[in-house]
Amino acid sequence: MTPVTTMAGCKVAVFGLGGSGLATAEALRAGGAVVTVWDDGEAARAKAQAAGFQALDPLQNGLSGYAALVLSPGVPLTHPKPHPVVDVARSAGVEIIGDIELFCREREKLCPDAPFVAITGTNGKSTTTALIAHLLRQAGRDVAMGGNIGTAILSLPVPAPHRIHVVECSTFQIDLTPSLNPSIGILTNLTPDHLDRHGTMSQYAAIKERLVTASTQALIGQDDDWCRAIADRCRKAGRSVIPFTMRDGDGEGLWLRGHEVIARDQQGHVLVYPLEGIATLRGTHNAQNASAAIACAQAMGVAQETILAGLKTFPGLAHRMEVLGHIGPVLIVNDSKATNADSAEKALASYPRDLYWIIGGVAKEGGIASLAPYFDRLAHVYLIGKAADLFKSQLPAHLPVTQSGTLDQAFADALQDAQASGAQEPVMLLSPACASYDQFPNFEVRGARLRALAEAHPDFVPFGVSVTKNQEASHGIAH
Ligand code: ADP
Repeated sequence: MTPVTTMAGCKVAVFGLGGSGLATAEALRAGGAVVTVWDDGEAARAKAQAAGFQALDPLQNGLSGYAALVLSPGVPLTHPKPHPVVDVARSAGVEIIGDIELFCREREKLCPDAPFVAITGTNGKSTTTALIAHLLRQAGRDVAMGGNIGTAILSLPVPAPHRIHVVECSTFQIDLTPSLNPSIGILTNLTPDHLDRHGTMSQYAAIKERLVTASTQALIGQDDDWCRAIADRCRKAGRSVIPFTMRDGDGEGLWLRGHEVIARDQQGHVLVYPLEGIATLRGTHNAQNASAAIACAQAMGVAQETILAGLKTFPGLAHRMEVLGHIGPVLIVNDSKATNADSAEKALASYPRDLYWIIGGVAKEGGIASLAPYFDRLAHVYLIGKAADLFKSQLPAHLPVTQSGTLDQAFADALQDAQASGAQEPVMLLSPACASYDQFPNFEVRGARLRALAEAHPDFVPFGVSVTKNQEASHGIAH
């Protein structure tokens, strides 16, 4: 934990106790603040009370005498309209901040030069963050990873000269972090997203821009107009910028040649990082994430051989094109996080043929119409959940489609067809292009169900376990 000593002796209200809220309250208390908490949900409040916190509703009691309101990133600060608690704080003259702000202040106080890598972008944040942490750990570094991924930032160990904090930041978190000043700031890409919470695209982009403009070293993707403009402004402001692109580059920064990331070392020598054959980094979008991570690892002084080895051992993230393993020749892929067509497109684009695709749930606007360019990769489609009829109408009439209804049934149907197909490595892909809440509490439970179904099969071989002679040897089969 990182106790928040900068608020010692002050009254602080923590509002919103899901996710990082309770961890923030604990860290504030450990640092000597007088903490009150609130959440509209009774269960969350009860949990905090059981941990010894006083629950006080700022809407009833006001915030006069408080030094700060620490807001959960899930609570609207600006759009569609500020939560009433924001108005209460503003009228009492109380600053409104988030947990990453408290971390930044603590870092400034304890160890301003502690390495701090912050990652944002519309897509690829978690993959890039996890890959950076993995590469740095492979290099033997002390890494504390968290923020918008996994562990709440204040539950991580304190900033120290040899400890690298690798922190994923959502736009909501950046908005609550006026002192954000990472040593390395990474912006992967920008496309319209969450505009209901940020108003316009330019407001959304401006918040993301703050993460890189405030960093000592900025790493910025160059594959959309917004990010290119941000990189230009950073350079004009005298910042050091390393660009990376998914295109064949012009020799600046990092670029892609086929499925190889090309970079340069400090002396200007060209370094090649092949991604071909790395199952957890399939697809051009992952090449963008890998480029960001390679650039970061290089900037932190990690040697090329270590990066090369680390890329190959990256375990990937659960539910994002997660390769679960094989049943016979059938590769089972869990992409349950693909809750819209844009995300599902990344998975379809990564597997060129013999796809047995499980889709459905609660459809987003437009359904799967935008995925038509990939339909010729599909061997068979299995429909589940509410969107089944809509999706059936959007698929070409000649394509084999089965109304499986449930994920369990779709798994059985797809496995049978894929095994019977005779293809060398047919792919069973759960990339539903839908929210899950008609049949599952969330996408994690949906993906976990696919994993459970695969693991329950007697012939399942998890990813990473070789099915060649080596495996026989490891099972003690003598030759
Ligand atoms: P985030 O944390 O930003 O949501 P993730 O790394 O968790 O991103 O990836 C979530 C999904 O977003 C992936 O399953 C994939 O469909 C898509 N994605 C990942 N990286 C990129 C990228 N660089 N560009 C576009 N889409 C991406």
